[in-house]
Amino acid sequence: MNYTSRMFLYVGMLIVLLTGMMVLSFKAATDIVVSGSRDHLRHAAMRKQEAIRLQGEELLNYTDIIVNDLRLQEYLYIITEIGTGRDGLASYYDRQFGSLPTDARVIIAQDGTVLYGAEYTALIHAIQERGLGNGRKQFMFLSPEGPVMVAMQPLSYQGERLATSAVARLLGNDWLRRQEQQSDDYLLFFERDGYMLWTSNPEYRHFSINLPQRTMVDGDRTFYLNEVSLPAGSEGMPRLWFAASETRLLHMLNRYRDWAYAFTVLGGLTVLFLGWLMVRNFRRPFTQLMEATEAMVQGRLPVLNRSESRTELDMLLNRFADVLDALRREKAKVKRAHKKLQETAITDSLTGMYNRRYLQEITPGLFAQVERDGRYLTAILLDLDYFKAINDEFGHLGGDAALVHFARLLKRNSRANDHLFRIGGEEFMILNVAESPEDSVTLAEKLRELLSQSPANYQGQCIPLTVSAGISCCSGRSGEGSLSQLMRAADKALYEAKAGGRNRIVVHASCEASRGFPVHRKTGRSLSLVHDRDRNHRTP
Ligand code: GH3
Ligand code: MG
Ligand code: MG
Repeated sequence: MNYTSRMFLYVGMLIVLLTGMMVLSFKAATDIVVSGSRDHLRHAAMRKQEAIRLQGEELLNYTDIIVNDLRLQEYLYIITEIGTGRDGLASYYDRQFGSLPTDARVIIAQDGTVLYGAEYTALIHAIQERGLGNGRKQFMFLSPEGPVMVAMQPLSYQGERLATSAVARLLGNDWLRRQEQQSDDYLLFFERDGYMLWTSNPEYRHFSINLPQRTMVDGDRTFYLNEVSLPAGSEGMPRLWFAASETRLLHMLNRYRDWAYAFTVLGGLTVLFLGWLMVRNFRRPFTQLMEATEAMVQGRLPVLNRSESRTELDMLLNRFADVLDALRREKAKVKRAHKKLQETAITDSLTGMYNRRYLQEITPGLFAQVERDGRYLTAILLDLDYFKAINDEFGHLGGDAALVHFARLLKRNSRANDHLFRIGGEEFMILNVAESPEDSVTLAEKLRELLSQSPANYQGQCIPLTVSAGISCCSGRSGEGSLSQLMRAADKALYEAKAGGRNRIVVHASCEASRGFPVHRKTGRSLSLVHDRDRNHRTP
């Protein structure tokens, strides 16, 4: 897997991790917030419960005030014992206790006669149903307007029980609204069989409730419910619930979630972008290095552009460029040395002429050229005369000087397409490709003559020199011909020249067939023609 794919894999993993963390943290936050809000709901419900209990206490306290009122006791005594004064009782009661915050007030005599508050029939009925009883007592009953909380207490005069005083408070819509008027997010309501009966928010009257889940859903609003226990004596009453909407909370959480997702995506994209930038930065020097090494494998030493950047990879790249430069320099040096070595291998150190090895190298090409162009290859084999004697007379160094002198003469007077070789001690050869071999004969003759006229000079001494030469030819048309053949023929001609008295040129019969080359047997001292059958020959 290459680095780009790896980068995408790592970034993908990072994004998954990031998303997972976000989701987890969102879930944890949601759990905390929701459980906090449920706690809050439970506490609020408990506060409501306490408030209702206090209201019951308050009602009982009102009955305390009423039954302990001496004048009221006297009124009741008069009414019950004498049978008069009912109107006085009513006006006294209204005056004295009318301001108490209660919704209904009654006084019922021991025999069940209603002495005050006859209009509160439902209340009277409920009291009569339960019996007047003894002591302070509290209970609840259901009226069409809602549950009613009742507190009652026997009323006595001088130890004799005369009646029962009761006060009541209606826990209907108005009361609920008074208890819960904070905001739309909270509800207080009585429920029976999954329906709201009385509620702090009249809009929700008769709304249905999901009791198993303890929720109430209104469109996109969801309320969570917590039961509020009613005080003792409320058996058979509808259940009281406190509800809080979590919509605002959920909105907040959703907004948080959206932000979390947005951050995750943004974070992922940023990481992706940074990763891409990094990989791109990595790739450039890597690609350059890869291409360079690839080129090196193929035997090239490419020139690398140096980078200005100071990153480790770019510095490595620059170092690599230095290595390549050094290698290139070394290669050039080796190439030069190799060339020199090659030249040394094919040149004769004394005369600077090509040696026999190069002769063997070059001839296949010359033969091919001759054959292709239908031309002639001529070989002039030159051998200095009586060289041994020169060595004897002038010493080996003198002989060397004579060789150098002759070589220089050959070089100076040869033509552009002549190939010069020193093939042995004092034996030289000139190979030439031409239309006709005649020029070579002329050249050989010229060289012979020049040498005989220009002696070598060694330490002020004159070394007279002469040369004998044999010339052989090879015609391109024959399609055959080899170096050994050519040399054998030239050697034969040379042998003839030596035998004929030296300082002369002999042309081999192989040149006889040459186009436009007359077989001239020059009668002069220096030029003659030799046939293979004439003599046994030396091999080169
Ligand atoms: P010929 O006319 O028949 O050619 O007689 P020659 O003496 O020239 O022939 P020969 O082959 O008998 O002698 C060649 C001599 O050349 C023998 C050898 O010592 C000498 N020689 C060969 N190479 C060198 C060289 O590099 N330097 C010198 N000074 N002499 C050399
Ligand atoms: Mg010789
Ligand atoms: Mg010789």
